[in-house]
Amino acid sequence: MTLFPQMINDALGQSVIGRAVSRGIITIDAVDIREYTNEKHGKTDDYPYGGGAGMVMQVQPVYDCWKAVSEKISAKHSAIDNAESCAKPRVLYMSPQGRVFDQSFAEELSKERELVFLCGHYEGIDERALELVGAEEVSLGDFVLTGGELPAITMIDCISRLIPGVLGSTSSAQIESFHDNLLEYPQYSRPEEFMGLKVPDILLSGHHANVEKWRREQSIIRTLEKRPDLIAKAALSKKEQKFLEQLLDERNK
Ligand code: SAM
Repeated sequence: MTLFPQMINDALGQSVIGRAVSRGIITIDAVDIREYTNEKHGKTDDYPYGGGAGMVMQVQPVYDCWKAVSEKISAKHSAIDNAESCAKPRVLYMSPQGRVFDQSFAEELSKERELVFLCGHYEGIDERALELVGAEEVSLGDFVLTGGELPAITMIDCISRLIPGVLGSTSSAQIESFHDNLLEYPQYSRPEEFMGLKVPDILLSGHHANVEKWRREQSIIRTLEKRPDLIAKAALSKKEQKFLEQLLDERNK
């Protein structure tokens, strides 16, 4: 739900997500809130009560747009399987005041059949609309953007690539950074040597188990160096835990 549907369609109509949409694996429907306003000139915002800078998105167009979207989703699912499971899909309001989006939140959201993303603009949305639609506030981070479209695009991209079939290989989303609270190991491709810099021998050895062990260790080293805040939450085997302890001992010498 947005006042700028073209932004969503332009950004998500291409590349991996665009292909997933054309193959029917996921559906993205950018709904224009402006189409639901009762105001004859198409206005959707007004001055804030109590004064202050900027404009506020009004309750009526947002509420009516949400009602239409909810009814469309319910009708779609009752036509598919008579299920009530999507009677009330989660509505995520893009907001700097919300829970900060991260990979584990994306994994949680990827299990939902339907999600509604509500994009604010200007000074935000009339609080009553958020209450009426039962919005959950979700933030992209501790900074303020002009609108919720870029956060929605970012979240839709991140969540979609966790849906089976969206990426070429299902395993590739599972071994990336933040899965298990570890950053991904370094990657190399051809040529074997460039300007005197060589690909690590182990990756050319063809020894699958050793490559896997090296990659896990590199992930641990990288996480410790770049994101020490994550390492305590990393899911490590006993051997990997020992490896981490050795690294920490060496650091403290
Ligand atoms: N006045 C609001 C406040 O101080 O909380 C900020 C409004 S912001 C200029 C306009 C819209 O951009 C918001 O309604 C929201 O949808 C979106 N937005 C801005 N920053 C965001 C962030 N960090 N994460 C998610 N959405 C954001």
